[in-house]
Amino acid sequence: MRVKVLGSAAGGGFPQWNCQCPNCSALRNGKLKSRPRTQTQVIFSPDSKVWFLLCASPDLRQQVLAARELSPPENNSSPPPIGGLFLPSADVDSVMGLLHLREFQTFFVFATRGVQCVLQKENRIFRVLERANPPVKWQTLSAKGRLGCHLSEDSSGPADFICTTVPLGGCYPDYVSEETLRAVPPEDASVGLIMEQGEKRLFFAPSLSGSSTMWKSAVESADATFIDGTFWSDDELMRTGRSKKTAREIGHLPLSGAGGLFEQFPRQTKGRKILIHINNTNPILDEKSAEHRAVLDAGFEIAYDGMEFEL
Ligand SMILES: [Zn+2]
Repeated sequence: MRVKVLGSAAGGGFPQWNCQCPNCSALRNGKLKSRPRTQTQVIFSPDSKVWFLLCASPDLRQQVLAARELSPPENNSSPPPIGGLFLPSADVDSVMGLLHLREFQTFFVFATRGVQCVLQKENRIFRVLERANPPVKWQTLSAKGRLGCHLSEDSSGPADFICTTVPLGGCYPDYVSEETLRAVPPEDASVGLIMEQGEKRLFFAPSLSGSSTMWKSAVESADATFIDGTFWSDDELMRTGRSKKTAREIGHLPLSGAGGLFEQFPRQTKGRKILIHINNTNPILDEKSAEHRAVLDAGFEIAYDGMEFEL
């Protein structure tokens, strides 16, 4: 399985257009040892021909243009390189890129029933995807289930890879109406995704609220894990003047501190552990910081745009 990171930042990217936090200011002024990052987007391919997208980032247009793997085929005899997308939640950061793919192209969109309900019923703008002939095909992921996936339209043979969903216990985004919230299953709000091909497993969980612990067994069996690296500390947004809310209040387990990700992360893991969805306020982005060093010393990697590997 080929895996590539097209974007590694949280919402707003790095630097964020309106942010004057120490990181964003220093990066703009060329005074930070770091690199700019677009919003979180990962792609993978079981055969290096057909690719699947994890999330649909707000930066998707520029990310697709920069990824040679996703260029349209030179002739019509080859299948289009983007087979489908997996949406872990209905967060703006995870779904906005769908609108970049509205140019009369059909593909599969995999999402829980709750996320589909939010996107299809409450947000009519996503109906632009129905203009393709045939229209974009929605496929339902149950919040805790396994789905066999195929690389071609012919689904009679064995599955080419299996997607297992892991409920992460998060909430639906703020923009969802009370009426819709009453109609959708809470466990459908935010899921982690295990992509399994043969013996290899990739686990993707860019948003971890900490209210469920089911992610831990997924981490233990994965050959590579992308996990929520949004915030270093619970009060980071307050200290940088970006918000009056804590990391946990907006659905992200911080990396450090009591009960944080580092403390909770399973000790027995065999695979790579890679932090992704990194907010621009996070001190780990500064490659000279003590926090950056602490992350590496703990055996974690920090995702960057363009990171790629084979599983
Ligand atoms: Zn900033």
